[in-house]
Amino acid sequence: MVVTESVRGVVSESAGVGAAVHEGILRRQSARESAARTYARALPIVPVRARGLTIEGADGSRYLDCLSGAGTLALGHNHPVVLEAIRKVLDSGAPLHVLDLATPVKDAFVTELFRTLPPGLADNARVQFCGPAGTDAVEAAFKLVRAATGRTGILAFSGAYHGMTAGALEASGGAFDVRVARLPYPQNYRCPFGVGGEHGAELAARWTESVLDDPKSGVRHPAGMILEPVQGEGGVIPAPDGWLRRMRQITADRSIPLIADEVQTGVGRTGSFWAVDHSGVTPDVMVLSKAIGGSLPLAVIVYNEDLDAWQPGAHAGTFRGNQLAMAAGTATLAYVRENRLAERAAELGSRMMHQLRGLAGEFECIGDVRGRGLMIGVEVVEPEAEPERDEKRSLTLATRDGIDALGAPDRHGGATDQAMPDASAELGHLGGGAGGFAGRGGGTAAVHGGSEGHPRPAAPELAAAIQRECLRRGLIVELGGRHSSVVRLLPPLTISDEQATAVLDRLADAVDAVSRGHTPGHDRPHGSHAGQRRHGDRADRADRVG
Ligand code: PMP
Repeated sequence: MVVTESVRGVVSESAGVGAAVHEGILRRQSARESAARTYARALPIVPVRARGLTIEGADGSRYLDCLSGAGTLALGHNHPVVLEAIRKVLDSGAPLHVLDLATPVKDAFVTELFRTLPPGLADNARVQFCGPAGTDAVEAAFKLVRAATGRTGILAFSGAYHGMTAGALEASGGAFDVRVARLPYPQNYRCPFGVGGEHGAELAARWTESVLDDPKSGVRHPAGMILEPVQGEGGVIPAPDGWLRRMRQITADRSIPLIADEVQTGVGRTGSFWAVDHSGVTPDVMVLSKAIGGSLPLAVIVYNEDLDAWQPGAHAGTFRGNQLAMAAGTATLAYVRENRLAERAAELGSRMMHQLRGLAGEFECIGDVRGRGLMIGVEVVEPEAEPERDEKRSLTLATRDGIDALGAPDRHGGATDQAMPDASAELGHLGGGAGGFAGRGGGTAAVHGGSEGHPRPAAPELAAAIQRECLRRGLIVELGGRHSSVVRLLPPLTISDEQATAVLDRLADAVDAVSRGHTPGHDRPHGSHAGQRRHGDRADRADRVG
């Protein structure tokens, strides 16, 4: 195929002597590192230089990096303001490691961080510096609400991801644990109730209320509820704003602290500084990591001071005073704020999703395009499988009729529309073709076998093939989702329009290549929508960028 050959050519020409180094490092990595290694398996590259969106490998290959350190690099690699902030600390002779002692660098970080917080939290916030990973901050949040309420249980959601330490893991979707009660997270494409849209979100909210209010639900009054405003690892699923407000109301009414895990969604990623800002919700606790350290390790929780019932040392750890990370983080937070990069993410993300929906119209293997801001997911499905149509269809209609007949009251007897005033704007309506909530840069658009809540089966092998084809074309993407079938784009917020076009071009070519080659056991084009694309222009343009 034309594009493949041309990109191969570019890669091998620039490889030079680095190719042997590259191969040697990869060989030693697979011989010496743990079987649990993750990204390194799907992305066999050896980064040696990076700037902005671009990574250069030891073999001279260049890549556009839409993984961004799993969403960490709000400003891309080695942004000048970040490097300058780090150099300034190094040159000043300040200590680099200070446990949790006070320093001017830390003081500046906290001032900048508090400046960005949702108004309801900014005036009465406390911050706890945690061990430098998101998962440790999640542990801290659980400890905090347990200490403050005297209760133990945690409410968490299907499909959640909160980290890899014991407590965070048990609150994540793949775990089974008695201390965590699992609630349905609303989603359009694979709605657990088969209805999607505002009705699906309403049913999810009602289930939550019923679990809390039914004395025989088997769930004790919990210490807190933790949620991601957009599920990232779960497959890029934005929570409708109305549902988020319902969760706020439900928890506030029952004195349950609400913990927003903004580890991945924070610092402008979703089109507002914090993802909860879209809904106007003020959580009691925010868990922050990734981008707040400006590419270096840093994690904190910020919480309402009323919860500060901790004893000294209740959450400790040696590495809570990384001065370089705080300086890099301050520079990043300030740069995102001053340059209105959240607005930029909303606007560009919206445009990219629009273009991806066009692509979804061309290729049967793209079932859904969704996201918020520059947190974008493309769900890959089996192109030739039948959508799960009949049973779910009747369930859908029956459930909808039931809701309509009830007038969808909230727990106080008000109408759903009052409880979730803009639910329809965000969620769109059931059965409306490319149905999904497309409002204000967020949303989802089921295109193939999903427009009426009947998605085709997930296609993890196809998604992995698309990831591989992207890499061959110099594009790094992540895979996520329940079935590892969602291609994820998390570009830096500084990505230019031209780079965004190059990213989408490379992705389109990769999908095209996979669509044409994929049929289990055969090697023939896949369906009439596989399309015959023009490759030359696309590849040429992509190679000039980055
Ligand atoms: N919460 C969320 C929402 C995340 O996306 C992640 C990491 N992907 C974590 C927590 C855990 O962060 P870390 O990997 O730094 O422990």
